[in-house]
Amino acid sequence: MGAPMNDGPKDPFPAPGIDYRQLAENIKRWAVELGFQAAAITDVDLSEHEPGFLEWLELGFHGEMGYMARHGLKRCRPAELEPGTRRIISLRMDYLPSKAEEPWSVLENSRLAYISRYALGRDYHKLMRKRLQQLARKIETVVGAFGYRAFVDSAPVLEKPIAEKAGLGWLGKHTNVISRDAGSWFFLGELFTDLPLPRDPPTTDNHCGDCVACIDICPTRAIVAPGKLDARRCISYLTIEYRGVIPLELRPLIGNRIYGCDDCQLVCPWNRFARYSVEADFQPRHGLDAAALTTLFRWTEAEFLERLQGSPIRRIGHECWRRNIAVAMGNAEPDAEIVELLANARDAASEMLREHIDWALARQQTRRGG
Ligand code: SF4
Repeated sequence: MGAPMNDGPKDPFPAPGIDYRQLAENIKRWAVELGFQAAAITDVDLSEHEPGFLEWLELGFHGEMGYMARHGLKRCRPAELEPGTRRIISLRMDYLPSKAEEPWSVLENSRLAYISRYALGRDYHKLMRKRLQQLARKIETVVGAFGYRAFVDSAPVLEKPIAEKAGLGWLGKHTNVISRDAGSWFFLGELFTDLPLPRDPPTTDNHCGDCVACIDICPTRAIVAPGKLDARRCISYLTIEYRGVIPLELRPLIGNRIYGCDDCQLVCPWNRFARYSVEADFQPRHGLDAAALTTLFRWTEAEFLERLQGSPIRRIGHECWRRNIAVAMGNAEPDAEIVELLANARDAASEMLREHIDWALARQQTRRGG
């Protein structure tokens, strides 16, 4: 956290003593030096997104992500969320790991576990937050103490519309931000600030055109219309955010995706322009890019916690981890080792996990023809 932000006069250009245009240029250069691939600046008016956001909530598309509703319209009103905010610096950090197994080959092998590309290495939150703090300190060397607050993938912030408004890319039909020259495999972070920095032009062109590849490939039909995602059907939501019993009708569609889903990004033609991350932290750890389901299911809770130290996966906990793997094992080709593992795990499992194990055992049995 920086100094508290105060409500000041709007757009007090030019502020005495500080060349804000030069500062904005410097901020973008420092951001790149700190490992971000792009930075752009926008204001706090996201009012055009309010109706769509409210409709999405009213339709219940946020599922059990109560935090989405909790902040209400503050999500669309950054100056209410953080009083005094005048500008938002939106930053992009690419995460595609260069040393990971080819994704389709993992998705097509039902004995392997598919984990979303962003979660193969260390947690990005800590790394990005640290870099945002470093950027704020650089700014401080020029302007002295100033009001700011850093956000990384944070619930109260509409980070994608902010990035679009800052000019970092357009909102694709799959609801992710796409950059014309870098695709969509990137994280977003924001620095809310009270500095009257000049704004960058928004992205006004949408380059999806007639393409509907992401809508067509979505295994659970979660993209119900261009730019409209029913999170309750989204595999990323079901395997990461959702802690309960996965709906029966969706389980067969999940395939071997045990943590997140990348299909809409894998199929997007703009990702031929994606660039590999330069961060060692985002490279796969513990062979998570192509691990056998049986290997991961065997991890005890202690092993899960130890091996996934510093990984975003750790947050879902050992029970949901095994729940997700059980579903994938139910979807796997008939396999005696899988059946044995599931059967052995059944009695000690929680009620929720046991329900998924029983489903998986029944699926294995049906597919074995008996
Ligand atoms: S797959 Fe096609 S429709 Fe979907 S986001 Fe990419 S370009 Fe847009």
